[in-house]
Amino acid sequence: MAVPRPLPRLDSSNRDFWTGGANNELRLMRCLDCATFIHPPRPVCRNCLSENVATEAVAGTGVIATFTVNYQKWHPAMEVPFVVARVAPDGAPGVYLTTNIVGCDVDAVEIGDRVRVIFEQQDDVYLPLFQKIN
Ligand SMILES: [Zn+2]
Repeated sequence: MAVPRPLPRLDSSNRDFWTGGANNELRLMRCLDCATFIHPPRPVCRNCLSENVATEAVAGTGVIATFTVNYQKWHPAMEVPFVVARVAPDGAPGVYLTTNIVGCDVDAVEIGDRVRVIFEQQDDVYLPLFQKIN
């Protein structure tokens, strides 16, 4: 079962990222002037300082750049072990999402594995998690 997680506070910069799952879309912020992706989302480009930014949907697939397995039961309802990974989404160079790899045994996860986003809804937030593409 899904464990209640501390949810992000939505604001005008991050709302698209955290709610894109309602449309099954992984949405990232991008600078419209220099095309740099900006993550975590914020209203100013970290590359050129432009405020001309907007969110766009990316493919939702990606690759596991690195990961660790958590064995610590931080919450009584938490099922361990689970995988915390950094996923590089396809089509968004420079972006890494800190997320969980779900839907497989932790021993089956390896760096370089191809993954696809799935969304776990809690309240009005859709947490982007990833599962392996077989
Ligand atoms: Zn820029």
